[in-house]
Amino acid sequence: MSMPAAYAAHSAASQGRRWPEESSASRAEFQRDRDRVIHSNAFRRLEYKTQVFVNHEGDLFRTRLTHSIEVAQLARSIARSLRLDEDLAEAIALAHDLGHTPFGHAGQDALNECMQGYGGFEHNLQSLRVVDILEERYGAFDGLNLTFETREGILKHCSADIAASLGDVGRRFIDGTQPSLEAQITNLADEIAYNNHDIDDGLRSGLIDLEQLAEVPLFQRHFRIALTLFPDVAERRRINETIRRMINTLVRDLVDTTNERLTQRGPESIAAVRAAPPLVMHSEEVRAESLELKRFLRDKLYQHYKVQRMSTKGRRIVGELFGAFMSDPRLLPPQYQAKADIDRARAVADYISGMTDRYAMREHRRLFAVEDI
Ligand code: MG
Repeated sequence: MSMPAAYAAHSAASQGRRWPEESSASRAEFQRDRDRVIHSNAFRRLEYKTQVFVNHEGDLFRTRLTHSIEVAQLARSIARSLRLDEDLAEAIALAHDLGHTPFGHAGQDALNECMQGYGGFEHNLQSLRVVDILEERYGAFDGLNLTFETREGILKHCSADIAASLGDVGRRFIDGTQPSLEAQITNLADEIAYNNHDIDDGLRSGLIDLEQLAEVPLFQRHFRIALTLFPDVAERRRINETIRRMINTLVRDLVDTTNERLTQRGPESIAAVRAAPPLVMHSEEVRAESLELKRFLRDKLYQHYKVQRMSTKGRRIVGELFGAFMSDPRLLPPQYQAKADIDRARAVADYISGMTDRYAMREHRRLFAVEDI
């Protein structure tokens, strides 16, 4: 492996953990962060949380877990190309969705609505809350006690109000500075991953088709190449050949454009990266194409009536669970009852957001299905 660049985050120069710990003889700090995320409860729950398709709809669809692993793969290879810290990129990628509710964005929207008047609910902020507070693995402290750099990467966006309550990790939202390049690339790796895998899952589910995708230039261009190269293979293989080419185009464009920016700007340290404007980006053409892809997914897949039906159900389950626990906290499991004594709404939101899709459905049945008494 080549030497990390001067502008990379360096494990040995980390701004540290909230509770000081001795360093490990065999593992770098960001590597330990990555390992802690993998061993967390919240990470294992990602397996049963919806990305777009509810987990039980089919075994081949992405879940939050496989999505996070794909993001980590992309972030890691982009980090390697740019001589950044691969462990940090991977730690941020694996942790970035830990705070997601069951039922994808529908669940988050429902919980956020319920939490109006109690400080709201935002999955990105919740991911930080999971690693800072909610995981219970250590004797001496709550949370996973991750480094500042991993925590800052997890917190992708944040209002100035909330940022002010978060201490050091919120400061950049107030003073308008940037996070590490590792955080910046992971953010874009997330987009590359979901745009492409949602096309793939969308086609597999039959909710979108190849004819509709003729209006998406990025797809169409690569599909034509795949068709020329492989005129006789099964369509599924041709789709895979198309998608791998799309991912490759996006990743290469990101690496090339970012490399140019880094050469122009020449940041000599992570401090210079923080003070500079965002340095990780796509070229104008590719950005425009990827926006078109996004728009297509929003109109044709995320708003498809079959996806909407699932979303509506998910919203209803989350809303009704919230209402039941708020009006009678004695329905909560004991460890959450204790927390509810301090802040009822936040304890209920923590409990619900931690649920997997199937656990939320089971819990809903236990509370509302009269025939199950
Ligand atoms: Mg994501």
